[in-house]
Parts: sequence; C-alpha cells; structure tokens
Amino acid sequence: MNRCHGHCGRHGRYGHYIAALLLAAWLTIGLAAAAEGSPWALLTAPSDGPGEVIGSVSNGCIAGAQALPAEGEGYVSIRRYRNRFYGHGELLRLVSELARGQARRGHGLVMVGDLSQPRGGLMSSSHRSHQNGLDVDIWFQLAASAEAANRDTANQADPPSMVSADGESLSALWGDDQQALLKAAADDPRVDRIFVNPVIKRGLCASEGEHAWLRKLRPWFGHDAHFHVRLRCPGDSRQCDQQAALPAGDGCGKDLDWWFSDEARQPLKRSVPRAEPVLPAACRALLSIN
Ligand SMILES: [Zn+2]
Repeated sequence: MNRCHGHCGRHGRYGHYIAALLLAAWLTIGLAAAAEGSPWALLTAPSDGPGEVIGSVSNGCIAGAQALPAEGEGYVSIRRYRNRFYGHGELLRLVSELARGQARRGHGLVMVGDLSQPRGGLMSSSHRSHQNGLDVDIWFQLAASAEAANRDTANQADPPSMVSADGESLSALWGDDQQALLKAAADDPRVDRIFVNPVIKRGLCASEGEHAWLRKLRPWFGHDAHFHVRLRCPGDSRQCDQQAALPAGDGCGKDLDWWFSDEARQPLKRSVPRAEPVLPAACRALLSIN
C-alpha cells in the first residue's frame, strides 16, 4: 500500500530534498526502484499557480492541482490517508456534478477513491496511471453515510464487487443507481473513457436499448467494484498528452468477446521489461520546487 499513509506531513520541509534524491535514484535505477518508493509520494502539497496537466496519464504530473474536499453534496472521499485526492479543476467539477446527480436520486453517497497525488506523478502502489490529475476511481457501491463509508473502508477492505462469484454476470448488488452513475459519467463530454470490468460492459451491452454511451466504457482487468473515469486533456493544459482516440462503435462485439476467451483469462506474461519513459521536463521541475 501507499507508504505515505497518514504520515506524509512528517517529511515536512525535507520532503523536497528527499524527493530530489529519490528522483536521482529513480532516473538511475528505473521503475523497479521507483515503484518501491516514488519520489512523488513524498510531496505533500500541490504547487502554486494555475492548474495545468503535464504529460500523459501514465507519465505525467499536474501543476496547481486542487484538493477534493473530504465531503460534499452526494459524495464522500474515502481513504484520505493515501493523500491521493488531488486533480485538475475539471475533474473536481465532474465529481461534484456526478455526486449531485446521485443526491437527487437520493439512495446514498458516492464513494470517491483515488485521484492523483498533490503533484501527480507515479504512485508507490496500486496504479500506473492517475499521474496527471485526470483520473478518478469511483466505487459502485453507495454509502449510507460518510461515517459508514470511512468506517467500512478504514481497514483496507474494498467495497464489494458487482460481478457474480462465478465471474459470469452482474451480481445482485448491481442496480439502477450504479447504472445511472456510470451513464452520467459516460455522457459527460469532458470524459474521454471509463474502465470497467468486461462482465459489466457485457451486461450493459445485452440489456441496454441505447448503445451510444457504451462506447466510452472500456473493458479492463479488475474494475468490478469501482470504475475508473478519465478526462480528456483540458483546454488550459497545452503540455497535456491526449490519449489516442477510442475506436468507433459501441465496443460490444468481437473486442469484448476476447475478454472472455482462454487467452484473456491466462495470467499476463510480460517477459521483456518495458523501457521506462522519460519524464517530461516540466514534471522534473515540479519535483524540485517548493
Ligand atoms: Zn483507477
């Protein structure tokens, strides 16, 4: 888990110095070392100035990030001790609007998981992406109250899966609220794509009359208890690398079938370690300034 936990503040004014040392080690030794202790995890506060997304979701950072408040109308931000509740202003607005929609439906609070670290960058655990303030994880299960959400997730237990135990269909926990929340996110023009478990996508492909919104739902491993929303590059961020466009169509056909093939169910083989990308210069600068 994140080494930062609740103790990020203890690094205080030495945080940047330690981060710079770790950056040097990281550039020398590569990702294996970085994943053990990313220098970005030591940075406890966003940089000053206007919000700007730099680089890509998997090799980037964010200047002038905003902090998502711990609670707001219709939502609660959980696991705050991870210090991953920062993002671009547009991401925070999206979260608030999705949550207000949920408040109108009135069946519980949206539980918001990780966004990015205060200045983005690689995390020490859990994610390769979430680096530039455009990604947010949202749990499918709704919380009865903020207190219940914080109590139930404090021990690291994840909220429950929406996929049945045999891995073949949506579970009984899946309902109108989950679908409404997911559709609201997919219908938002700021949203580029959303990662969900293939079983969730297949369930919607089979049951939904209108398929246009399913295009943004991309099947991926896991993502059965939460969905991962990714925004497009905001207009104010000229150094933001926009991910390649999604293929045309609703994605309900052959591409989705692959996820249920023997090949897809085999454990991932990655024999050749991938080369670590070069961090954008503007991100290196963000690591070393106060
Ligand atoms: Zn995610």
